[in-house]
Amino acid sequence: MRDTSDRDPGSPLRPPETFEIVLRTSQMLSPVVKELTFERADGKAMHFEAGQWVNLLIPQQEGEIKRAYSIASAPGGHARLQFAITHVEGGPGSTYLHRMEVGDSLRAVGPQGLFVRRHGGPALFVGTGTGVTPLRSMFQHALAQGETAPLWLLFGVRHEEDRIYADELRELAAAYPNFKVFYTLSQPKGGAWDGRTGYVQTHARGLYEEMTALGQGDVHVYICGLQKMIGNVRDLLRKEMELPRQLVHSERYD
Ligand SMILES: Cc1cc2nc3c(=O)[nH]c(=O)nc-3n(C[C@H](O)[C@H](O)[C@H](O)COP(=O)(O)OP(=O)(O)OC[C@H]3O[C@@H](n4cnc5c(N)ncnc54)[C@H](O)[C@@H]3O)c2cc1C
Repeated sequence: MRDTSDRDPGSPLRPPETFEIVLRTSQMLSPVVKELTFERADGKAMHFEAGQWVNLLIPQQEGEIKRAYSIASAPGGHARLQFAITHVEGGPGSTYLHRMEVGDSLRAVGPQGLFVRRHGGPALFVGTGTGVTPLRSMFQHALAQGETAPLWLLFGVRHEEDRIYADELRELAAAYPNFKVFYTLSQPKGGAWDGRTGYVQTHARGLYEEMTALGQGDVHVYICGLQKMIGNVRDLLRKEMELPRQLVHSERYD
């Protein structure tokens, strides 16, 4: 469900179109998350803004169901679209998508959504699980565009092996001094993990204050994941830290 708190009625976003997509590659990113890379069947470039999502129309015996998925890849003027899908036990949409084979096709409706960056400058991205996907689209796009303001990602998962895109994020942080990634594990296994632990809201204030102290302007926060986490992080930022609403942007998955 979309959080419309940062809705911009003047947004020049295009109306969504319905198009067919063909699965080109798939791979597991973690024990429960699968990356699916599709291409538009008509070969047309996919125009969208980093942070947007599409509805996938998923065939079921009793008819079609619709499920929203954030576009995990950055806009690039090509026909490709990437998603990262958490398999929800017993969930018809995610189960169908995890079972798709290369060459299978689907209909999609989009792009949709207003969870996009309207301001340059420093950004703190806060994501849990596959909530990191629209954030990935945003920071990949920003870095490719040459943005040099601090772009920090606070990424919360349960276990170490749930850190999807870990290699890629390490490489980005090595390549771009303004990009940093901070993980926090809510349920670390054994004693091997010596990084942050607990929920993202435990660490959001410290990172936000550190970014603000860099003196590079207002820090916008982009939060994505399940409703409970978003509520907790928004309460921290808006009620406890008294940040103005225009600095806090969020998208919820449930
Ligand atoms: C704007 C938007 C973007 C989304 N983008 C993504 C995405 O990029 N990747 C993705 O995996 N999901 C995403 N979702 C969630 C997705 O639309 C489905 O809700 C999800 O795949 C479950 O569908 P289902 O039919 O398998 O299960 P259902 O039976 O429809 O859902 C069962 C329950 O699963 C929970 N759930 C939903 N999403 C997740 C999740 N990601 N992780 C754990 N539990 C979840 C919810 O509590 C939901 O009520 C997005 C949702 C929205 C509204």
